[in-house]
Amino acid sequence: MNNVLYSTVPLDRAHDLRRDAQTQESLRRSPEKQVVPYWRELSLVAEANAILAHGTQAAELLDLAREIVFLGKDGEDRPVFAADISDLAGEADGSGPNLGLSGTWQGLRGIGALLPPGEAALLGYARALLIWHRRARFCGTCGAPTESRDGGHVRQCLDTTCNTQSHPRTDPAVIMRVTDRDSILLHRQPNWPAGQWSVLAGFVEPGETLEEAVSREVREETGILVADIAYGGSQPWPFPSSIMIAFSARAVGGTLTPCPHELEDARWFTRDTILAEFDEKHRGTGTGLFLPTKGSIAHRMIEDWLAAY
Ligand SMILES: [Zn+2]
Repeated sequence: MNNVLYSTVPLDRAHDLRRDAQTQESLRRSPEKQVVPYWRELSLVAEANAILAHGTQAAELLDLAREIVFLGKDGEDRPVFAADISDLAGEADGSGPNLGLSGTWQGLRGIGALLPPGEAALLGYARALLIWHRRARFCGTCGAPTESRDGGHVRQCLDTTCNTQSHPRTDPAVIMRVTDRDSILLHRQPNWPAGQWSVLAGFVEPGETLEEAVSREVREETGILVADIAYGGSQPWPFPSSIMIAFSARAVGGTLTPCPHELEDARWFTRDTILAEFDEKHRGTGTGLFLPTKGSIAHRMIEDWLAAY
């Protein structure tokens, strides 16, 4: 699946430049460097464009950052970094710190679909890595402090008898389009806006294949049994660090029984019902039915099924 939101980061990740500390130091001193600022879950955005710092402002951001990650090199061979400046105080009105850059601090989940795809992918990549750093400050094996290495792509336990290295996490989740002839199984989560329905999804558990996770999740959440499980693409989902792995599956049995602990409701919708009754007009007003945001793999999976009519 091509061109899903948060995929195809427009950088050479330059893996070979991560390991050597002196190389990293000289990249950080490069006058050409670009820096993606990140402050307490928020990214800097102006008029639907991601804001990167360069020149002296980039150097200042690196000086202020609690964590720095080397993201790679852009198409003009300039090093690009992400900088977590969450230690800075915000403004009196509750907004993020004024860095002298244009733009306002905004949550990526709300504005990702409005950005050029490459910029959304860049912010997602930066965000996923910086959140991982914050959660990996102490060794999961022995509890000692850890230190960033390899340009921010490894954390090293500082207890020399433990010495464990940890790596950025990506948590696999399956997302599945279950159909039965001209009907599709959709569900609602209690925390979603009124009227929104989507395909089922769930985290992969230890000791199961992706296909087993699809089968188990559908059965647990709805009571429906599935077969013909087929891979259908994937999407990085940096909230905070998942990858959504898409599958189609065919219902072959069971009785629809939405699990009250897992979801608010689950129903079969025919193609005709979706085409006639779902639209974007009432998103957020609670007076109509609508599908997940454009750019999400869930939206793509449903649209592809509708288009195959
Ligand atoms: Zn340790």
